[in-house]
Amino acid sequence: MPEAMTFETLKARVEDGSVDTVLACIVDMQGRLMGKRFVARHFIESAWEETHCCNYLLATDLEMATPEGYAATSWEKGYGDYVMKPDLASLRPVPWLEGTVMVICDVLDHHTHAEVPHSPRAILKRQVARAEAMGLTPMMATELEFFLFEKSYEANAGAGFRDLMPVSRYNEDYNILQTTKEEGVMRPLRNHLYAAGIPIENSKGEAETGQEELNIKYGPALDCAEYHTIAKHSTKEIAWANGVSATFLAKWRADKVGSSSHVHQSLWKDGKNAFHDPDAEYGMSELMRAYMAGLIKYAPDVTYFLAPYINSYKRFVKGTFAPTKSVWSVDNRTAGFRLCGAGTKAVRVECRIGGSDLNPYLALAAQLAAGLAGIEEGLTLAAPIRGDVYEADAAAEIPVSLAAAEQTLSHSAMLRAAMGDGVIAHYARCARWELEEFDRAVTDWEIARGFERA
Ligand code: ADP
Repeated sequence: MPEAMTFETLKARVEDGSVDTVLACIVDMQGRLMGKRFVARHFIESAWEETHCCNYLLATDLEMATPEGYAATSWEKGYGDYVMKPDLASLRPVPWLEGTVMVICDVLDHHTHAEVPHSPRAILKRQVARAEAMGLTPMMATELEFFLFEKSYEANAGAGFRDLMPVSRYNEDYNILQTTKEEGVMRPLRNHLYAAGIPIENSKGEAETGQEELNIKYGPALDCAEYHTIAKHSTKEIAWANGVSATFLAKWRADKVGSSSHVHQSLWKDGKNAFHDPDAEYGMSELMRAYMAGLIKYAPDVTYFLAPYINSYKRFVKGTFAPTKSVWSVDNRTAGFRLCGAGTKAVRVECRIGGSDLNPYLALAAQLAAGLAGIEEGLTLAAPIRGDVYEADAAAEIPVSLAAAEQTLSHSAMLRAAMGDGVIAHYARCARWELEEFDRAVTDWEIARGFERA
């Protein structure tokens, strides 16, 4: 991997003229990068200490609306500022943009300079700190699935997103011939991200027309969330630069498979995977069993953080590899949780519930909250499910709609204890706003169904 970029290196690059722009970014509730493009010289002279943004950035939706009902901010409170505090350890080049580097910022209260509790980065840091206090380091990896379409975002939007044409005409799962045709996007994506210090392992064709997967090596949870966020962002930018478009919608068409974001998890102690016990069944330590039991018990509580939109729930369809039950299995892709690397020192749990539309900071934090609760409660893990999990009737169902997930989120004593009442109220409001907006919409489905026959 290329060496991490230090502040000193940045200064030198600004002096020699190879860097002229610094992107200072926060991660919003939707997992997007939001921020400012600094003239690099101004950044190294003063903005590196702090800059500011309007506090509605953490109380809005994909459309940048200003919904009522957030305790943190409102028109009444005047939508003041947050401090954006650059985390200089996150400095990295952005090789797909000329002369540009990026830094991720923490979001602080303007007056107290305390971290804003509902900032996704703060939420993840809190759960990581909880694990660290138990002597454990969470190591995680997320897989990114997405679809590539012919034509730009602008052209597809201009056509009302009708007749979207995936870049391939057939299921391209592991297909080298088809993925060769996509190298115009995927090769710069892999190589630029790698040069940006993001440990890309590989890309591959996925099991649908135009579907791609990007795999990134596991790392400490905060790094993992950052890798995911930047990789998703750059996928869109590199697609855009190539005149095509990428979508991370969980389900773009009813008759096509959806896109997931599986989350691989292990807890490490003293530089070793503490989920591994060579003498135990499947090589799973007691610690791993309790963590996994927590993931399963609290899967309904945390589903919102794995599936945050109306559309996310359209992905949970039987027979499509998207799980509908909160059970675990040994290397079986139909369960919500899959044991991977059984019997090896890479033993880990993969959560398969999340869609490609998740915010990785929130998803990882919620997984950690559930797993750590399992350890604290000393939960025992039931036997794994075998065979087709879709047909297993004993298993707990995960919430099947955003409305149901909002309820399990709001009423989760576990999440309230782990993240704080204010944070849960904030995200429950976000979920309800999404539902309210959808209720106001008149969809194509209603028109087609009722125009003549109703
Ligand atoms: P697959 O068979 O699904 O291709 P891989 O071996 O490529 O599996 O691993 C999938 C993901 O799991 C990768 O991102 C990898 O970095 C990650 N991974 C491997 N070991 C661990 C671990 N101990 N903890 C968390 N993630 C891990």
